[in-house]
Amino acid sequence: METLEVKVGNITIGGESPIVVQTMCNTHTSDIDASVAQCLRLHDAGAQLIRLTVPSLAQVDSLREIKSRLRDAGVTTPLVADVHFSSEIAIAAASVVEKVRINPGNFHKDHEKAREQFSRLVEVCKENGTAIRIGLNHGSLGERITNLYGNTPLAMKEAVMEWLRMCAENEFHNVVVSLKASNTYVMVEAYRLLAKEMQDSGVIFPLHLGVTEAGNGDGGRIKSAVGISTLLSEGIGNTIRVSLTEDPACEIPVAQYLADRYDHRLHSSMASLVLEGRKAVATYIAPSRERLLLDFSCDFGKRLLDKELDEVQLKGSYLDENGSEVVLDGSEYAEYLVDELMQAARRRFYRPEYIACPGCGRTMYNLEGTFEEVKRRTSHLKGMVIAVMGCIVNGPGEMADADWGYVGEGNHKVSIYKGKTPVLRHVPDTEAIDRLLELIEADQK
Ligand code: SF4
Repeated sequence: METLEVKVGNITIGGESPIVVQTMCNTHTSDIDASVAQCLRLHDAGAQLIRLTVPSLAQVDSLREIKSRLRDAGVTTPLVADVHFSSEIAIAAASVVEKVRINPGNFHKDHEKAREQFSRLVEVCKENGTAIRIGLNHGSLGERITNLYGNTPLAMKEAVMEWLRMCAENEFHNVVVSLKASNTYVMVEAYRLLAKEMQDSGVIFPLHLGVTEAGNGDGGRIKSAVGISTLLSEGIGNTIRVSLTEDPACEIPVAQYLADRYDHRLHSSMASLVLEGRKAVATYIAPSRERLLLDFSCDFGKRLLDKELDEVQLKGSYLDENGSEVVLDGSEYAEYLVDELMQAARRRFYRPEYIACPGCGRTMYNLEGTFEEVKRRTSHLKGMVIAVMGCIVNGPGEMADADWGYVGEGNHKVSIYKGKTPVLRHVPDTEAIDRLLELIEADQK
């Protein structure tokens, strides 16, 4: 899908440009040394665009210093300010970095005031050549729009279209759009609806793809690959982020493979495919475990998501890190990968569904370790949706359709949510998983 071209510093998103791979720092932006060090590592890993959270006006100055040190080090990677809950911060950051991400769900509480503030933001962006990402998330749709359209892909599309009309009114087109969700079905449908509407309107903005709060490990990679590859295979998407609750450098090889696969039409490591009605039997000869996992997700995610297939059987082999062949036929590992893929495509739930944010400069605790522990202790709760979120400011709003949420408050304290309602606050983190499990058990009784 040919889109408008958006200039972000020295890179172009959209038009005929290759897919841009991006990520986000999880350092505190006020910790300038740590943020610069992480940006350098992410640049070396291949990130073409790096986002940093800006939770306060004071941190706009930190951002300026981080950018200056990176440029002094010869790193020209464009930076993106990630802004929530303050249109003033977005306006201030727009003269500092190459792109500002705003969230329509929390740009400004008042709809009319939001329009005014957006016009001010656009003026600063025009003066400085700054791009904007209208970064909508399923979990943080505004109340006005959910009252009109429910918590649906249609609501996500409609919410974004309002903001794109505001861009048109302000004659501003240096805009990238995202409509992320943790649920792959919701995410794919929202992007498809928006792509169609933009095509019909004749003005097509580039799209930033991502499955938000995808979690970590194999599950996070498979879920991200299912959502992102489904859309890239349809020609939708110009820049991608694979959100993992891990070191952000781990996101880059996954995203890079997805970008290369669809930019350069790389061949899958699938050696043969036999269709038996709505069941597929796929044989892979994969050069690595990671490649098997990604190819399998890309080859079958869309077909499962769109219900073209009901079942997949995985056979063949892959090479482990020592170069030894690991046979998949009838193995527990093949069964596990099929289960993970079915879960990511929302066709069968064999374990709890986890929503975990990747963490960012707002995270005040050991998110990665805690998420692993929550997974270990709740693994028996098949089908339940459990969220582990890095901050109390944005976490509760972003948990989308979680049944239960573990939200880090900082200072070793945790809030526990049932749906969108906080049921326990300020729980010491040493007790929080016990309390969560007790609440779930009591609720089930
Ligand atoms: S929910 Fe997670 S990723 Fe989002 S702002 Fe909070 S810590 Fe950052």
